Amino acid sequence: MGSVIELKRLNGRTKTIESETRELLDSALRGYTATRGEDGFEEARTIWNGMIDRSPGLVVRALGTSDICAAVNFARDNGILMSVRAGGHQIAGLAVEDGAMMLDLSLMRSVHVDPVAQTARVEAGALLADVDRETQLHGLALPVGVNSTTGIAGLTLGGGFGWITRKYGMTIDNLVSADVVTADGSVVRASEAEHPDLFWAIRGGGGNFGVVSSFEFRLHPVGPEVLSGLIVHPIAEAPALLKEFRAICDAAPDELTVWSVIRKAPPLPFLPEEWHGEKVLIFAACYSGDMKEGEAAMAGLRELGSPIVDVIGPHPFVGWQAAFDPLLTPGERNYWKSRDFIELTDRTIDAILKSIDALPDPQCEVFIAHVGGAMARVASDATAFPQRAAHFTMNVHTRWSEAPNDKACIGWARDLFDKTAADSAPSVYVNFMPDDEEGRLGDAYGGNLERLRKIKANYDPENLFRLNHNIMPEKAAQAAQ
Ligand SMILES: Cc1cc2nc3c(=O)[nH]c(=O)nc-3n(C[C@H](O)[C@H](O)[C@H](O)COP(=O)(O)OP(=O)(O)OC[C@H]3O[C@@H](n4cnc5c(N)ncnc54)[C@H](O)[C@@H]3O)c2cc1C
Repeated sequence: MGSVIELKRLNGRTKTIESETRELLDSALRGYTATRGEDGFEEARTIWNGMIDRSPGLVVRALGTSDICAAVNFARDNGILMSVRAGGHQIAGLAVEDGAMMLDLSLMRSVHVDPVAQTARVEAGALLADVDRETQLHGLALPVGVNSTTGIAGLTLGGGFGWITRKYGMTIDNLVSADVVTADGSVVRASEAEHPDLFWAIRGGGGNFGVVSSFEFRLHPVGPEVLSGLIVHPIAEAPALLKEFRAICDAAPDELTVWSVIRKAPPLPFLPEEWHGEKVLIFAACYSGDMKEGEAAMAGLRELGSPIVDVIGPHPFVGWQAAFDPLLTPGERNYWKSRDFIELTDRTIDAILKSIDALPDPQCEVFIAHVGGAMARVASDATAFPQRAAHFTMNVHTRWSEAPNDKACIGWARDLFDKTAADSAPSVYVNFMPDDEEGRLGDAYGGNLERLRKIKANYDPENLFRLNHNIMPEKAAQAAQ
């Protein structure tokens, strides 16, 4: 291994790690460490958002909980700044930091399903696709997100919602327990019965409280096929259709989820070629229940306007979960702005549609997710995730390939964000926050922030776990105000 390494410290200075010290760390691992030029380093430091090109000083590629303990103890004892990487999908890119030590969990992907108890034990490096495939083998599913290459860990720690959330709740609502390595290096189980404060905090509070090595989830019978698919309309119809969309969402049974996507049409194989590259409104819909009931529940949506194409039909649940993957491949440049709306007002719809006239890149889109149902029947202080009212979440998903377009694309997202302020709710989903939104922590946690700070002070008083949307320990937060 040879040479010394310089690592960023928590106090802002640099620590020199001699090769003997690194060897000691390596000897404590089942996995291995890597620095620039060594096997596994590039794979670990490369994350989904191509805007984030950072180089950690050292990567610890963990293979199990004991490796996580060794890494946490090493970081704490040496006062080293540590990031945690699971699926590497976070828009903010906080899993990777120049000169810091990265604890990389991406090799820990096992999923063990107990079909009798209808639960799954999932390691923290698993992707949503891993969870979907193993659970569907038994006709079961966990509510997760809509892009199957997302990591289960970051998604769960922020909340987690997708196609079957209205029926079965958020990912965190199905969390039974988690094994957590805390800042002092202990392994604790967080559940309703054990460390209940920690269990409350990790259901929405992100990676602030420790490193989760595995999660235990409750599963539900779903599939193997679900009535799902896309309906594509010309953009000219969007002003009227988005108003119908909001009415359909308001009246929808829990089984039905409809999201709107407004963008230039990608070259989808089922879309007539003359529409490729034209602006369109896409309804993406899923019914998580009986097919016949689904047909009836989706009839109103399918009767709207004169669609260019309607490909709603029975699709394997695993396939539907990956349906958006081709549009969300890793490596492109991405910047997001997100807002919640309790009501989608005419004014908001107008602002969104005006912005579509000025799309800065064909890959940019506006997503409007509709949530509620089972998710909204949980009290806002029952978990750290507070925004439980049925609502729409807009994600201005700006995506492009070349750095010279950064200014135009980021500017477009910020402009639409500003223009939709008037009728928005004062909340934001922490998992949709880019890295320049430190000021929105209060929006992300609302009335739960003070309790989160107290729990942080208990489990991580020195703020070892700070490379995240950081919740400072109570006293430090008060001093900073
Ligand atoms: C294309 C795309 C689509 C998405 N769609 C949805 C969606 O439909 N629904 C939804 O709810 N979200 C969605 N998200 C958001 C997603 O939930 C977050 O980006 C989430 O942070 C990704 O988790 P990850 O493990 O891949 O991230 P990473 O970047 O690996 O981790 C993010 C942060 O989480 C913390 N962390 C990760 N693992 C651990 C751990 N084991 N212990 C402690 N802390 C940890 C760290 O602070 C880390 O910096 C989407 C994201 C993308 C990029």
